[in-house]
Amino acid sequence: MNDSVSKLPDPRPEWFPRGKAAATATLRRIVPAVRKAVHGERPPSVTEIARRSRSPFKVLVSTVISARTKDEVTGEAARRLFARAPTPRSLSALSARRIEELIYPAGFYRTKAKAIRALSAKIAGELGGRVPDTMEGLLALPGVGRKTANLVLTLGFALPGICVDTHVHRVANRLGIIRTKAPVETEACLRATLPKAHWLEINDLLVTFGKSICAPVSPRCSICPIARSCVRAGVARSR
Ligand code: SF4
Repeated sequence: MNDSVSKLPDPRPEWFPRGKAAATATLRRIVPAVRKAVHGERPPSVTEIARRSRSPFKVLVSTVISARTKDEVTGEAARRLFARAPTPRSLSALSARRIEELIYPAGFYRTKAKAIRALSAKIAGELGGRVPDTMEGLLALPGVGRKTANLVLTLGFALPGICVDTHVHRVANRLGIIRTKAPVETEACLRATLPKAHWLEINDLLVTFGKSICAPVSPRCSICPIARSCVRAGVARSR
């Protein structure tokens, strides 16, 4: 269930259709505009959980729940689960069946329940109750891939990382600054071009922007504040 391959590839020149410098310039220009456009919108559930709990463990578990699951479902499932078992020790003491019941109807709830139980047991036992604060340590946990690991680093520990999910991948490619097939390639490109000052916020910004304006089907290009910086690559239909 790992959410992406673990190893980050070296970015290839063909992944930057207009070059790296142009990608950086566009990113510098669009980030403040996107920040302004999504101001006041509700942040993703995992971000809310991170702000409320300040717990890397809760960020980790709620990120696992969030894969292929609607945001409202993730928030409710995490709330039920943490009300019953808020720590690695208490969570690992639950049966996988009980975790399934608590996180249902999250997508792939059976697989996720097993992963949550296994990673809680590893953290409670082998790791002395501490969530790893390195990419390597996080990737060694059951069910954890780069997307989850990056989110735990950024939201859980305020350490550098770039979490690329479907929204970040889509928006970055539509802009025309990169041309990539897989999120891990997008992550490699963004690490090479996005100024580090924006790493912690980029996932929140583009996820919220990707839901409210640059929607997967029929993006709202007519009201988009960054339309002039966008080539709308692959956009067949828009509003
Ligand atoms: S112009 Fe359209 S495709 Fe480009 S970022 Fe804005 S909404 Fe997305």
